[in-house]
Amino acid sequence: MSITRNVKTILSNLPHGVMLVAAAKTRNVDELKEAILAGVIAFGENYIQEAEQAYSELGDAVRWHCIGHLQRNKVKKAVQIFDMIETVDSLALAKEIDKRCKAEGKIMDVLLEVNSACEGQKNGVMPHDIKALIHEICLLGNVKIKGLMTMGPWLDDPEKIRPYFRLTKELFDEIKNSHIDNVEMEYLSMGMSDSYKIAIEEGANIVRVGTALFGERKLL
Ligand SMILES: *Cc1c(COP(=O)(O)O)cnc(C)c1O
Repeated sequence: MSITRNVKTILSNLPHGVMLVAAAKTRNVDELKEAILAGVIAFGENYIQEAEQAYSELGDAVRWHCIGHLQRNKVKKAVQIFDMIETVDSLALAKEIDKRCKAEGKIMDVLLEVNSACEGQKNGVMPHDIKALIHEICLLGNVKIKGLMTMGPWLDDPEKIRPYFRLTKELFDEIKNSHIDNVEMEYLSMGMSDSYKIAIEEGANIVRVGTALFGERKLL
């Protein structure tokens, strides 16, 4: 299957209102260009160096989402490239984004990453800490909370991830219904190649898909 075919098939099967973010890690610019021609309008990047490379060639022809863990010393570069940072999981990181965006005269859309399975070694905010964090981040003038993102646990059967998607959606609705100032709960980013259909059933409106578009990743 070609990238073109894969993109067109997946796009035509997504329900209205669900955004496809093409997870671009390890893919070269020609692959990304093919994806754009087939209809991709947003890429997810995990690494700043790859994002810089792709952005320098493709620029603002598409939207750029940061979907990897963002180190604070990479934030200055990140705010120049990304339209949305999906992986905010601490006040310190949010403050750094806020500071760098102030200097650039922009406001960054962010999602808070939820560690929905409460796994010790994983990035993301524990579900029970999320509301307190939102109440602090919402005070920052150059950061705009737009929703939640979760990876879910690493399980061979995607059906087993469903409860974690459901929990994240419940959290999303709860926050949305609390109408916090400067918080617009618009996006719920959940699901990857093998789980995006389940994630959509559970309320995702951003899906991050790599392998199902580009094929298996080559080992680096
Ligand atoms: C790689 C990646 C994806 C896409 O994974 P696939 O299984 O290739 O679809 C989604 N989200 C994040 C955060 C990723 O790093």
